[in-house]
Amino acid sequence: MGGVEQGAEGSARRAGRLPSADEVWTALAAVPDPEIPVVSITDMGMVRDVTVEGGRVSVTFTPTFSGCPALHVIRASIGEAVRALGVADVDVQSTLTPPWTTDWIESGARERLRQYGIAPPAPTGDSPLITLDPEPTRCPRCGSLNVRMTASFGPTLCKRLYVCGACKEPFEGFKSV
Ligand SMILES: [Zn+2]
Repeated sequence: MGGVEQGAEGSARRAGRLPSADEVWTALAAVPDPEIPVVSITDMGMVRDVTVEGGRVSVTFTPTFSGCPALHVIRASIGEAVRALGVADVDVQSTLTPPWTTDWIESGARERLRQYGIAPPAPTGDSPLITLDPEPTRCPRCGSLNVRMTASFGPTLCKRLYVCGACKEPFEGFKSV
């Protein structure tokens, strides 16, 4: 059924130059993460594949967490960003294989997350495969490692809540997955 809807839209498309995949990537780099506006969906490593073929632009993305309520917002934002390039036939797919990992976050974005007050996740490569303890997390305000997790699930399923033992400030941290 999805193909029928897209076909109706596609028949109305203008005969114009299609953007290159690089131009699509550039446009997607301007799409903010709906929950953390200081980083984009490409900063977070969510966009996995862009193809431009036969008049259609296809974008595959992996949501940061399958439980994220922002999933439909991300899908709509990707479609909007590509249509803004003059493309009528846009196919946005999400995939959970392989699952998103915090390792995909761009290094520059980690610093912006810290400045925004969200503790960047520890690289998962340093942790054992199975652990019941949260990874070492540093207070984004004073840098102390003396932090305590107060809730496994923050305002969204993506984050944890911590309180710093040194400066007593509460802050949000990402779950490393
Ligand atoms: Zn602190």
